[in-house]
Amino acid sequence: MIHIDGSHGEGGGQVLRTSLALSLVTGQPFRIENIRAGRDKPGLMRQHLTAVRAAAEIGGAKVEGDAIGSQTVTFRPRVVRPGVYHFAVGTAGSATLVLQTVLPALLTAPEPSELTLEGGTHNPWAPPFDFLQKCFLPLVERMGPRVSAELDQYGFFPAGGGCFRIHIEPAERLSPIDLAERGEVQARCARAIVANLSKRIAKRELNAVAKKMNWGEECFRVEEVRAACPGNVLLIEIESEAVTEVFASFGRVGVRAEAVARSAVEEARTYLAAGVPVGRYLADQLMLPFALAGGGTFRTLPLSRHARTNIDVIRRFMPDALHIEEQEDGTVQVYGAGVQDEAA
Ligand code: AMP
Repeated sequence: MIHIDGSHGEGGGQVLRTSLALSLVTGQPFRIENIRAGRDKPGLMRQHLTAVRAAAEIGGAKVEGDAIGSQTVTFRPRVVRPGVYHFAVGTAGSATLVLQTVLPALLTAPEPSELTLEGGTHNPWAPPFDFLQKCFLPLVERMGPRVSAELDQYGFFPAGGGCFRIHIEPAERLSPIDLAERGEVQARCARAIVANLSKRIAKRELNAVAKKMNWGEECFRVEEVRAACPGNVLLIEIESEAVTEVFASFGRVGVRAEAVARSAVEEARTYLAAGVPVGRYLADQLMLPFALAGGGTFRTLPLSRHARTNIDVIRRFMPDALHIEEQEDGTVQVYGAGVQDEAA
């Protein structure tokens, strides 16, 4: 039984989700204590509870402590069962994070899977659906499996009510990929999405982006969508030879449209200036597939606390899975196990 301290490092939900994902893949049981001890409302929230139950269903697992507010969970997986599943968070909690938990096991399962996920699709502090569809999943596909994602309904905080579907054609194993260079930028766009809000907000956001980025008019799009409550997200998408990166910033009551734009622009500019293919959030999310692929490499910005914590959790299940190398220019090179050993 692996013992995980949920308060370690960043101390958020990712410690739990990565543990669940790797427990399913490796078959190792674990017990996690102090879940989300570093957060304002510690313990399992609706999104985390849904992730625990989704993982348990897919892995036929025996679970203790799966209740709202619980800070200790014991998880004993049996066999991963691919198939048709429906997971609903029941609040605006992020459904993309529920997917993050169960996806790794289904990528190399013996049969295809069809998932329907309900909850938040565009939440601050979680991967927006567009990030999943355009950035993360295409890289997973380059590792072998086929994964398609379709958004049926946007879900914003506080009402939620979003829905998307994922179809997975698994591969026998994940193949290593090389993301050391970004290559030329081939396309870029800024999309300001509003639900039940004035288009003027979206236009102001795009104007603010346009002032900072020297892009043609065709790169800016206002999109009005339907959702159960007001919502606004600004997405900056940068497509280069190696990867498409997606930077998001969320509108909130009391935050000016220009400030929403500034935060996404800063993220995109930092990324562009560093010349790396992999941005801050993508980096922590790629650690797990690279560990499972047992090889490959990617270059990224200085590691976030999330990324360093995720590496520590992955190493508890797969001790030699990742090698990290700080470069002289401040960027970081991440290796799945095997690559660096071969190079040495
Ligand atoms: P946690 O805070 O521990 O629940 O983990 C949050 C997860 O969401 C991490 O995997 C982050 O990389 C991811 N995440 C947060 N914000 C974004 C964003 N704007 N774009 C993509 N992923 C994000």
